[in-house]
Amino acid sequence: MYYNDNTIVFFNGQWVKAKDLMISPYVQSMHYGNAVFEGIRSYGTPDGTRIFKSEEHFKRLLFSAKKMHIKVNYTIEELTNFTYQLLEKNNLGNAYIRPLIFAGTNMSLIPSDESHIILCAWEWEKYLGTKLLDVMTSSYQRPNPKSCHVETKVTGHYVNSILASTEAKEKGFDEALLLDMNDNVAEGPGANFFFEKDGVLYTCPLGNILPGITRATIIELCEELGIKIVEKHFKPEEVKGSDSAFFTGTAAEVSGINSLDKIPFKLKWDDSIGSILQSKYIRRVAFNEYGKFSLV
Ligand code: PMP
Repeated sequence: MYYNDNTIVFFNGQWVKAKDLMISPYVQSMHYGNAVFEGIRSYGTPDGTRIFKSEEHFKRLLFSAKKMHIKVNYTIEELTNFTYQLLEKNNLGNAYIRPLIFAGTNMSLIPSDESHIILCAWEWEKYLGTKLLDVMTSSYQRPNPKSCHVETKVTGHYVNSILASTEAKEKGFDEALLLDMNDNVAEGPGANFFFEKDGVLYTCPLGNILPGITRATIIELCEELGIKIVEKHFKPEEVKGSDSAFFTGTAAEVSGINSLDKIPFKLKWDDSIGSILQSKYIRRVAFNEYGKFSLV
């Protein structure tokens, strides 16, 4: 699904076949989870293949690497150029792009001098599918910002996401909604969260979540469309039985939610603000409606 015998990836400045890529068993990141990554999408637009908000994604990647003391020898511009070459070499238009930067051989717990970079891409459907989701409040909390840099995309943080998604699936739900250390709603395992009540959209402020690039796009779209949006802390009780809700993320795009803890949202999805934003988002990323966004 992710690669075949012909798939080419970028590895430390070289183009190599994915199937031939060799990594030392002693890389620090594999043992301790200190690698950083991004999830980016490209779309086949009327102007050709375009990476959506490439600059924002690579900026976040370099920020994550800096916070984790991982060296990166490439600029945002170089990374963007290599990514376009990657798409071309693999004949990809609508694609999901995964840059990964990891520390080198080092079994200690101090930063490594050596680092490695992989850029790979594949065709990926909407991550959470297209049907409305039944979501449960997770028994797992998002990591406490005093225990790690929650605003970065570090591989180790996704242990928490895997546990939450697995718990939800085992209990018959489609996805989890995690709270922060104060029991306020934070985000999904791989997406930010919004809900609608009486014509107003709510999402939690930055601080205990990954600052999603899709979240920022949704806020920008709300401003353009005159939709009132409020960033505040809230408990799951406020969400349950409200008008509608959705997740946002590069992989998930905008994914509507049917229920939280088996309590359905009041509005039909098609009548919700989320539904309007879902179609505007796709028009923004995949058609010629770029507004003020950067499409490199
Ligand atoms: N929160 C988490 C924990 C995520 O993994 C993601 C996906 N990167 C998001 C939110 C959404 O971020 P973005 O919109 O930048 O993809």
